[in-house]
Amino acid sequence: MDFWESHDRIKELGKGSYGLAILVRSKTSGREYVVKEVDISRMNRKDAAEAEQEAKILLALHHPNIVACSLSWVERGKLHIVMEYCSEAQLQDNCLVCAGDLQGFLKECRSTQLPEETILDWFIQMVLALKYMHERKILHRDFKTANVFMAEGGLLKVGDFGVSKVLSSTLALAKTTIGTPYYISPEICLNRPYNAKTDIWSLGCVVYEMLMLRHAFQAASINKLAEKIVQGRQAPRKSMQSYPSVACC
Ligand code: ADP
Ligand code: MG
Repeated sequence: MDFWESHDRIKELGKGSYGLAILVRSKTSGREYVVKEVDISRMNRKDAAEAEQEAKILLALHHPNIVACSLSWVERGKLHIVMEYCSEAQLQDNCLVCAGDLQGFLKECRSTQLPEETILDWFIQMVLALKYMHERKILHRDFKTANVFMAEGGLLKVGDFGVSKVLSSTLALAKTTIGTPYYISPEICLNRPYNAKTDIWSLGCVVYEMLMLRHAFQAASINKLAEKIVQGRQAPRKSMQSYPSVACC
């Protein structure tokens, strides 16, 4: 049966670096999923076929810390990838339920520091996700707080693994990124090839952000940001002593 016949389109979750993310619900099971639509119409035949192939590889990968992909197909110049849905952050009885993406969660934290054990726990889960994919020679290429989701039971899930492979170059990705690409590494700024260490750089930026509640590198323009990243120039540290816990149920 056609996917759109068996699923209701609930709402658009947003436009990201690659295209549209749509929340859908199965008419039979009532389960919710996210459909990512990636425009591949301007790709040549070979690249489009490669993108379709890459998406098929993602379907075979399973890890508790990685957002699972369950189906993919091409329709009217768009590659569609069906993924598990990680619901949005919610406040219940003045208590922030750990759901939604890490970017939104850190914004909610404002100046309330995360407990050190939470940072360590989440860091380990992100490392496990990267290790699983890197061992299978798949790079993330767009590791950032907006691609890390908090699921039930304290589980952290990394989304969009390998999706950026459908775009021909990482620089193209950095340019299409909505907002500033805070997590790009020196080699990407210098237009050098992407490798597993590039993802690790981005992981470092995410860990910095969890600790300091601000970006590791920040600037008013992409060029200034790239300059800071290449030089490794950072703002002076604020002194951080206490770790009052954020309500995380
Ligand atoms: P980007 O990764 O560049 O932020 P996306 O297309 O991945 O762009 O995401 C667009 C929006 O959809 C964001 O608000 C993101 O939080 C949301 N989103 C993406 N994937 C999921 C998912 N698997 N579960 C829940 N929300 C998601
Ligand atoms: Mg994403």
